[in-house]
Amino acid sequence: MPSGRHKSRTLRKVFVKTPGGKTKIHYKKKKPAKAICASCRKPLAGVARERPKKMKNMAKTKKRPERAFGGVLCSACSRKELKKKARSI
Ligand SMILES: [Zn+2]
Repeated sequence: MPSGRHKSRTLRKVFVKTPGGKTKIHYKKKKPAKAICASCRKPLAGVARERPKKMKNMAKTKKRPERAFGGVLCSACSRKELKKKARSI
């Protein structure tokens, strides 16, 4: 039976196989929610989903797509936005 603090689902369970062949449960903090598009609220592709400590050490190019509106708008919405801007000029 897990101890009291491990009964809630605040932490996620990670099953780790030890060298002796036993499976142990490690309790780790949950990952944050997926980044969503600012326009259509769809989850964004290519945006890292990690805790701040890991995000801090991650390269900028690995955190979000390298294009205009990368990490803010989804590909469909950014395409629409770019067309709108090009046509207004
Ligand atoms: Zn969108």
